Amino acid sequence: MTAMAELLASGGSMEMVKAAFDNGADAVYVGAKGWSRRRAEYEMDDARIAEAAGYARSVGGILRVAFNTLPSSFEVPLFLAKTDGLYEAGVRDFILTDPGLMMALKNRHPDTVLHASVGCTIINVQDALFYREAGASQVVAECRMDKATMRRIKEEAGVGLEVLVHATTCYTLLGRCTMSSYTRYEHRLDAEGKDHFPGSPNRGGLCYRICLSDWDRVGARGEVEESGFVLPNTAYFRADDIPDLLDLGVDTIKIQGREYSVPLVGEMVRFYRDLIDACLRDRAGFRMEPWKDRMARIVAGRDAERREKTAGLISESLADADTPKTH
Ligand code: SF4
Repeated sequence: MTAMAELLASGGSMEMVKAAFDNGADAVYVGAKGWSRRRAEYEMDDARIAEAAGYARSVGGILRVAFNTLPSSFEVPLFLAKTDGLYEAGVRDFILTDPGLMMALKNRHPDTVLHASVGCTIINVQDALFYREAGASQVVAECRMDKATMRRIKEEAGVGLEVLVHATTCYTLLGRCTMSSYTRYEHRLDAEGKDHFPGSPNRGGLCYRICLSDWDRVGARGEVEESGFVLPNTAYFRADDIPDLLDLGVDTIKIQGREYSVPLVGEMVRFYRDLIDACLRDRAGFRMEPWKDRMARIVAGRDAERREKTAGLISESLADADTPKTH
């Protein structure tokens, strides 16, 4: 039986939040400044988050706020103060990675709704059960999760399941990857007292997509055996899988991409809204074929923007790696 699924989109700015809702998103996620897995320009300060939450309420949607980095003990009071403030402003939905923070926030505000982030690297039923125990009512499937595992989580874990479409599979498991931190290993405290390790998306920094740069394969004696080696890391576009995901009872279909342009995000959201609605209207008669041309145009637009961002991130990171550090 085919079930309804929430369509979740990215909100890298107030303009993007509005475009996502106006094009049919049921929910939008934004990153709390300094606390999510993106550059600060795609995150929002507390006042902007409150404004975005107000817009979400006005259109009957949900605003979800990501605090999906791993804090040190001294950052926890800051996390609690910030989430208290957002709770006062009417925010109830949060995306977290750290199970300790999940428990702390749930104890403090039992009516909050917590989702376990893609950064949790949930790859099996036991992981899902663990994060349910910590207070999450929904978990994000790791990008490589197969449908059989999704089915088992739906049947056995008693939590909602979220699946990313329009994502890139990582060379490693996303939440466990430390590659970027080898090129950006300094750290700083911001004005609020939050710790930032620029090369670690798990610690307030970024993934610089280092796995997508050219590598040398080095032999046992240090000799270069192959230059310009490319690691397998393919973008996947799971539009073809959407009917199956709906049949599986997936609760949320997520389009990521806070760094994309607002028109592209609006176009992606409209595409998925139309596709999901058409599939739900007539599951037996639904065919992907008529959607392929529109999908191809969106993939081309998305790949062009992504390639440009990736090239910028890699060159920024490698330039920094060449700069001597003072610690
Ligand atoms: S460096 Fe590559 S494998 Fe690591 S998190 Fe980034 S995209 Fe994923």
